[in-house]
Amino acid sequence: MEERINHDARTDIFPKKSRPLPQVRQRGRLRSSLSWLHARRGFLFLTALLLSGVIAFSALYYPTYVVAINGMEIGKVEQKATFDAAVAQTEDTISQILGKPYHLAADPSYQYIYTYGNEYTSSSAMEQHLLGTVDEIEQLYALRVDGKLLGAAEDMDSLVALLHQITAQYQGENTRSVHFVEPVSIQEEYVAKTTEQDLTKILQILQTETGSDRNHTVQAEDTLASIAEQCGVTVDQILDLNPGLTNENLQSYQMITIEEKTPFLSVYVEKTATYSKEIPFETETVNDATLYKGERNVKTVGVNGVKQIKEDQTLKNDRIISRTVAEETVVQAPVTEVIAVGTKERPKTAATGSFAWPTSGNITSKFGYRRIFGSTSFHSGIDIANKCGTAIKAADGGTVTFTGYKGTYGNLIIINHGNGKQTYYAHCSQILVSNGAKVAQGQPIARMGATGRATGNHLHFEIRIGGKSVNPLSYL
Ligand SMILES: [Zn+2]
Repeated sequence: MEERINHDARTDIFPKKSRPLPQVRQRGRLRSSLSWLHARRGFLFLTALLLSGVIAFSALYYPTYVVAINGMEIGKVEQKATFDAAVAQTEDTISQILGKPYHLAADPSYQYIYTYGNEYTSSSAMEQHLLGTVDEIEQLYALRVDGKLLGAAEDMDSLVALLHQITAQYQGENTRSVHFVEPVSIQEEYVAKTTEQDLTKILQILQTETGSDRNHTVQAEDTLASIAEQCGVTVDQILDLNPGLTNENLQSYQMITIEEKTPFLSVYVEKTATYSKEIPFETETVNDATLYKGERNVKTVGVNGVKQIKEDQTLKNDRIISRTVAEETVVQAPVTEVIAVGTKERPKTAATGSFAWPTSGNITSKFGYRRIFGSTSFHSGIDIANKCGTAIKAADGGTVTFTGYKGTYGNLIIINHGNGKQTYYAHCSQILVSNGAKVAQGQPIARMGATGRATGNHLHFEIRIGGKSVNPLSYL
């Protein structure tokens, strides 16, 4: 630039130096005017030269303070205040790093010079220089979770490996993705020298569980809102931990999660799970005219089927927080249970399948072993005592298969109820039905007496199933 200006001036000062003869021939007349012209031009030139020189100087050289601390140059500034501001900013930064107020023991020396060109140092560059002078901090790779500094290392890779160590625990054959719930960052920055640098300890911090496991047993009058209030949490927190829970599907005595331990660094895992599930069989009824009304008969036994479910799951740490069935395959189809339901009108004399009390009175002797007449004997029925002539009724519908006197039984009636069931009515004073008659449940068949081996008026009543006497009290 300076060169260009000089060149211009030179052309100005010797503009006609190379001109030919005519100038020489008119020398005498022109001399005075030329010299005047030369003088004026020279003055103009000098003025222009001085002006342009000042302009050139101020355009090229800048007033500058070179700031140094302990002989180390920190930067070049136009004003000392710029450096003071950088110091204040750096002190703020260090205070934040150390978590306590910090003052730079900066005793700057200044040198005032004019520098060629604009070479002022940026505030951030000075801050970096200043940070480098502080012993309590160092530049490392800092691991932050959700903005919180957890540890630092001299290289980035060892911290990355640490994070992989955590996600690796959740990796499996069916894992689709593993990522952190909280934002995690690793970046080079100044940190306090006391920052944890032991990788094992940093891993421990990351995996430390916080909070506690807390459950609530649902009471009849509970709602999501009332549970939240009782437990001091929000409804959203409950829904977070118990996906799909609503006021409608809340069940008494159901255990719900209120609080759960979570590692410092939580992990979302997306995976595909495959599992088998039972398919419950359906039940179908068909009318059957061969069965009496009220009778049921299983014609085909129901069998549960099996299906294989492929499900997309999202887990937070180890807890499933959402699931979507992606595929369902029936491995084994269920077998529908078929039940025949009787439609035939039941005759009154048909057995109902259950026994009614055959008479009224006091039970004077129960079923089983008893001592009688000084020796132990087996009592094959129960004795019900009442006045002579008290009505004795059929315990269930059936066919009379015996009437008449039979040894110690005295007057005896036997009724066959089908299905191997028989009832015995003994010691009767009078028999009201004949052999072969069909009788209905509750129909009078005899009167109470003391025939056969009896010490007083009573009914000896037996129930036999498959020919074997059973305790009537278990069937009445
Ligand atoms: Zn008896």
